[in-house]
Amino acid sequence: MERYNRITNKNCREIVLLKAFPCAWGKCTFCDYTEDNSKDERAMIALNSEILSHVTGEFGVLEVINSGSCFELPKQTLAEIRTIIREKQIQLLYFESHWMYRKKLQEMKDYMGIPILFKIGVESFDYNFRENILNKHADFHTPQEVAEYFDSPCIMVGIKGQTKEMIAQDIQYMKQYFKRGTVNVYTNNTTSIRRDDKLVQWFMRTYAYLEKDPMVEVLYENTDFGVGD
Ligand code: SF4
Repeated sequence: MERYNRITNKNCREIVLLKAFPCAWGKCTFCDYTEDNSKDERAMIALNSEILSHVTGEFGVLEVINSGSCFELPKQTLAEIRTIIREKQIQLLYFESHWMYRKKLQEMKDYMGIPILFKIGVESFDYNFRENILNKHADFHTPQEVAEYFDSPCIMVGIKGQTKEMIAQDIQYMKQYFKRGTVNVYTNNTTSIRRDDKLVQWFMRTYAYLEKDPMVEVLYENTDFGVGD
């Protein structure tokens, strides 16, 4: 599995996919990437160190992802990230976090000592779809609530049960309330949540212009950032 890459098409940065403890929620109906989680702290720390050793700091920007939230990374890995920030003169860090950790984001910013762009897997701003179909356990009702804490929502498109109207609303909210955003086009995995190919084709036609939007990254495959499998 690739765990280090350089993103050079938009918002240039290095990206690492680290290993972490099990996602504290772990019950989203569409998610099987928690299979990358581990409980073997020593092995995780060793693997994460090796991956982090590839970071050069060439862009001054580093994105760290894991299959869950940054708060689930081993403490020693967090300390190593902080060391690398200093040694490689990283000026901006991207991290991802679930809604349930929203009150801890500032603590993490203080710890790292540099600005952090916090991503959140919103999946959809439609409450019913997010909570009752995707079981996301993120009980906000408005995009403004999310924007109070997070910089960049990740939206999921192309799931059976989702509608064009929901997607249009999600993209509009993402553009209106946030400076950055990611759109993940859903691909079938081992869960029972299925992709709606017609909806995906509609999205690709209707929102082709997002490719040129420097603030929005559209991922057609989970591996489009060059990490994962
Ligand atoms: S919060 Fe993220 S990692 Fe955890 S189950 Fe949901 S999608 Fe998967």
